[in-house]
Amino acid sequence: MYDVKKIREDFPILQREVYKKPLVYLDNAATTQKPLCVLDAMREEYLNVNANVHRGVHYLSQQATDLHEAARETVRAFINARKIEEVVFTRGTTEAINLVAQTFCESQMKAGDEVLVTDMEHHSNIVPWQLQAKKMGIVVKHLPIDDKGCLVSCHDVATYITERTKLISIAHVSNVLGTINPVKDIIKLAHERGIPVLVDGAQSAPHMKIDVQDLDCDFLAFSGHKMYGPTGIGVLYGKEEWLEKLPPYQGGGEMIDKVSWEKTTFERLPFKFEAGTPDYVATHGLATAIKYMESLGMENIEAHEQELTRYCMEQMRTIPNMRLFGEAPHKDAVVSFLVGDIHHLDMGTLLDRLGIAVRTGHHCAHPLMDRLGVTGTVRASFALYNTKEEIDALVAGIRRVSAMF
Ligand code: PMP
Repeated sequence: MYDVKKIREDFPILQREVYKKPLVYLDNAATTQKPLCVLDAMREEYLNVNANVHRGVHYLSQQATDLHEAARETVRAFINARKIEEVVFTRGTTEAINLVAQTFCESQMKAGDEVLVTDMEHHSNIVPWQLQAKKMGIVVKHLPIDDKGCLVSCHDVATYITERTKLISIAHVSNVLGTINPVKDIIKLAHERGIPVLVDGAQSAPHMKIDVQDLDCDFLAFSGHKMYGPTGIGVLYGKEEWLEKLPPYQGGGEMIDKVSWEKTTFERLPFKFEAGTPDYVATHGLATAIKYMESLGMENIEAHEQELTRYCMEQMRTIPNMRLFGEAPHKDAVVSFLVGDIHHLDMGTLLDRLGIAVRTGHHCAHPLMDRLGVTGTVRASFALYNTKEEIDALVAGIRRVSAMF
């Protein structure tokens, strides 16, 4: 049985108070809290194992390397990648997308070639492509969304593809609308035309089982800190054939085979993309977080969060002048809203005074805000430890704030 009361005991921060009120933490799409097992694993590694990884002959270095490489295997199994060579550690989703944007555009694209994104992307899946557009003259095109916050149909996606489309890069789940995009269908359609697809999994990896072989995505990016792991660590999955084709991203130690003044050769995968000392304690922390989620069961986490989302949407609809953003039939763990003409910042600040942590503003998605015709929204986002009582507290809080205006 999914015992949320017991699960909450693993997250001591959830027991604290703010402004003498119990904390209701609903800002999980920004970052999640960390269970004790993750904190303990990282403390234990710094206390008893710490040494730089790879190439060290001494005991501690080998032990740290084993933990680091075991973490890679844990990630591989978590997303069902074929090989550990396909798992590249990065600082997060942002760095993973930048890595692909730079190396893919440089090696696979010419001026005038197109990358297709959507109107609901986070800036980290827009700006890296725009930087390449400026540098190389590639073109960034974007798929429109309808008023419910859904992508246009797959048939329409096809109409946005031209013979110059070289890559499609899309969010699996929108961080503002919660929309779960039909990435598997889009990947199939793209592959029929020989186009690879990058999936931004920042908001899906924490909430659902992802199988990269089943999806058949060419790249997948996600962040550790949004899935109960530490900050500063993330993953780029890439199909081996693509990673082999792409040039290195950054240069330095770890990523080379042999360096000379005449010619430098590079390490094999995945190290070719991992310049410098990796955050080997964070990789161990991430692996511990993955094992924690797996011990609860990804299906159980998904079912719990789906129920919270459904319940929240239902309760929100009972509030007068409520405007909900994102009413896709397939939606996950994110509820964005505005009430009447109350500014999102006012709503967020007053909810905070009641102990309720939500996010306000543009959520790093300016083009989406423009599409919605707003400057920002209030966003409540859920994690495996949230409860219906917390949603009741949110709804009561919104009613209370609304009555003040
Ligand atoms: N994509 C999406 C959909 C996100 O929600 C986020 C984080 N809000 C990112 C990318 C960027 O993740 P990070 O800041 O961890 O690199």
